[in-house]
Amino acid sequence: MGRQTLKAIGFYEHGDIDKLQFLELPRPEPARGEVLINVKAVALNHLDLWVLGGLPALKLEMPHIGGSDIAGLIAGLGDGVVGLQVGQRVVVNPTLSCGNCAWCRRGEDSLCDEFGVIGEHCRGGAAEYVVVPARNVMPMPDDFSFIEAAAVPLVFLTAWRALITRGQLRPGESVLILGASGGVASAAIQIARLAGATVYAVTSSPDKMEKARALGADWVVDRTQENWSSAVYNATNRQGVDLVLENVGAATWFDSLRSARKGGRIVTYGATSGPRPQTDIRYIFWKQLTILGTTMSTRSEFDDVMNLVWQGKLKPVVDSVFPMEEAHAAYRRLQAGEQFGKVVIEIG
Ligand SMILES: [Zn+2]
Repeated sequence: MGRQTLKAIGFYEHGDIDKLQFLELPRPEPARGEVLINVKAVALNHLDLWVLGGLPALKLEMPHIGGSDIAGLIAGLGDGVVGLQVGQRVVVNPTLSCGNCAWCRRGEDSLCDEFGVIGEHCRGGAAEYVVVPARNVMPMPDDFSFIEAAAVPLVFLTAWRALITRGQLRPGESVLILGASGGVASAAIQIARLAGATVYAVTSSPDKMEKARALGADWVVDRTQENWSSAVYNATNRQGVDLVLENVGAATWFDSLRSARKGGRIVTYGATSGPRPQTDIRYIFWKQLTILGTTMSTRSEFDDVMNLVWQGKLKPVVDSVFPMEEAHAAYRRLQAGEQFGKVVIEIG
């Protein structure tokens, strides 16, 4: 019998979506402390487009396979793995940490000296099989679909840490969420509502406004129709909001500072429009703003988020599902920014 293989969608060189190709590779064996997952669904993130395009500090072993958000069945156990069984339905925490450094010992895994993300720093789940650390795996309820489970981790974890852990969002506060159709934003609207906050959202079409309201946004503005920062200012009785969730960067930073109320917080987790914004330091000291950075999440935040999802208090937002054969179309939908919520690839 020949060596077992897997089908995957991956790339040998960085570039545009046309660099993605269908691959047939040897199936990996789980090492000590690892499990082999038979992937059933993988959700895409903008991270996948950036990794495909190439990130300056990221040196990858080629071919690389993306895909950070993985749900599937356990297909093999490495030595020393306890408490998990072959055939179990699981969802995967995409955050990699060493468990050993000073940050990890403090429970601050996302500051780990060896921090990484599955699908970015190592091969991900856009494949029939992937090997992951056993401690990243969480069993999922039988009544939850693989597609819904895969749509959760990266965006909900990012939004949860940004709003709750870093932003310290409190009941009765107001929060402004930019780019409300993105994966993190559609998670953030729900988390902010669950936390008892009033949600202001910025989006870019009547259809997306309707969807943001359906998720729980109290007030929505179409940035293509009016100046969103002025609209927020007016909608808050010229006060501004307590917390601005920022991921756009250069294009919005100045207006985000303007939209925060006195004593407010800006929590930043991305810079999709560029990392070097125009800023006005006077807004920061006059209004006594606090600027907080955040990235990914810790293991305990993964537990908190997934338990709220299993209880139905947070709901994954699936925009579209593509079979693996149409993976290029899935990547293109994400790149075009047409989606509301997660683009998911169903495997097998
Ligand atoms: Zn560590």
